[in-house]
Amino acid sequence: MSDQVDHFIGGVPVAEGATFTVYDPVTGSAVREVREADRAVVDRAVTAARTALPGWAALPVAARAAWMRRLADAIEERFEDLVAAEIADTGKSVVQARTLDIPRGAANFRSFAEIAAQHPENAFHLTDVLSYTVRRPLGVVAVIVPWNLPFLLATWKLGPALVAGNTVVVKPSEHTPGSMAVLAEIAASIGLPPGVLNVVHGFGAGSTGEFLVEHPGVDAVTFTGESRTGSAIMKAVADRVKPVSFELGGKNAGLVFADADLDAAVEGSVRSVFTNGGQVCLCTERLYVQRPVFEEFTERLSRRAGQLRFGRPSDPDATMMPMISAEHRDKVLSYYELAAREGAEIRTGGGVPTFGDDRDGGYYVEPTVLTGLPHDSRVNREEIFGPVCHIAPFDTEAEAVALANDSEYGLAATVWTSGLSRAHRVAQSLEAGLVWVNTWYLRDLRTPFGGVKLSGIGREGGTRSLDFYSEPTTITIKL
Ligand code: NAD
Repeated sequence: MSDQVDHFIGGVPVAEGATFTVYDPVTGSAVREVREADRAVVDRAVTAARTALPGWAALPVAARAAWMRRLADAIEERFEDLVAAEIADTGKSVVQARTLDIPRGAANFRSFAEIAAQHPENAFHLTDVLSYTVRRPLGVVAVIVPWNLPFLLATWKLGPALVAGNTVVVKPSEHTPGSMAVLAEIAASIGLPPGVLNVVHGFGAGSTGEFLVEHPGVDAVTFTGESRTGSAIMKAVADRVKPVSFELGGKNAGLVFADADLDAAVEGSVRSVFTNGGQVCLCTERLYVQRPVFEEFTERLSRRAGQLRFGRPSDPDATMMPMISAEHRDKVLSYYELAAREGAEIRTGGGVPTFGDDRDGGYYVEPTVLTGLPHDSRVNREEIFGPVCHIAPFDTEAEAVALANDSEYGLAATVWTSGLSRAHRVAQSLEAGLVWVNTWYLRDLRTPFGGVKLSGIGREGGTRSLDFYSEPTTITIKL
């Protein structure tokens, strides 16, 4: 992949528009120049998707599923190029990119090929009435995704949208255009019909993202990102009542009961707080620990946080990565400072590491563990999206559930306990779309995924995705 990223429209690269620079989060140096799509380029992409729609929608599901499998195969052939693109944009470790981000991209296409083949049409038969439904694609779908897991999150939407017969215009984050640019090359190389998958690059408000969601030729918007961006998109599409599927922010709670396997709870929480530099919507930012094990858990998690290793992406032992941008690093640091002002005890971290090499120009922050803040402090309420958590003690199960649920968000929660009944009882009481018991971020792609409250609208995953990306028509016949 070259250092110049163009749009991909109607099966060919389009080098139009002003350019902007993407920076390496590891060193702060320039990585690539990217075109910004203006209204005219967005219009070309939507028109290409609309032109390709009838032919693509008319293909049998089995034929579209075959295309999805070819895309997955081709992703595996270009595996290392995708890993390199993802690392250059995000600074994440090669180990994570190879084991999570890129394999999940191939799995997202392959699994929806299988799920679509089994998605039943419904038929209801009474004595003299037959009702049945047929499903049609929504049309042209705008896919808008963030920078934290760029390939994984985009393909999570592209697989079901395409197999359901839609054509798409994707806008990756302005910070992470690389892996979608490689996917565009892959689509062209396998001869995916032109216009079925289009990629435009640019920013959000007042730029490509806004132009795309507002475009009258876009029939639906699927979006992953911040809750307030979801709100802005909802307003932008309100007049045309376009369907939306939103996967938004979180302020996820983890509950550690005194009967938990503490080794597992500590190691699991190291993953759930610090994976991807804490920049995963599912990451835990609020931990509640039952009082008898509070001090031991806090001490052990803080010690493990202090041992995380700031390596370059190519370092297989690296366990901490930089923040995506200087702006995001400053946001995370502002919460570290706010925590101190709000009266937190900083158990580890709280600052910026220094390396004495070119990484001092990068966007690193220290993994941080806080205690002692009031429940309704801003640090405990607002999504930080960095390698940080606050730990508070609790006494009773009811108190723990009430603390976890007292949030505007409701994406994910983790429960650490060895009590079988408690595990079910607590999991069922938590106001979250996803609850993990004695694990974190273990995914079966057939299960519904999404959040409640400010964390989203609707669910994707398995047949839920196919339901969103298609419209049923019910046909009723008097026999
Ligand atoms: P963001 O909302 O700032 O940007 C996401 C995308 O939306 C980008 O491509 C951006 O250019 C675009 N955008 C911004 N404003 C827009 C507008 N007005 N109209 C159209 N498009 C616009 O989010 P981010 O900072 O890239 O990502 C971090 C956020 O994403 C966090 O809040 C995180 O919790 C959330 N997230 C949620 C999930 C989930 O599944 N629930 C997964 C990953 C990330």
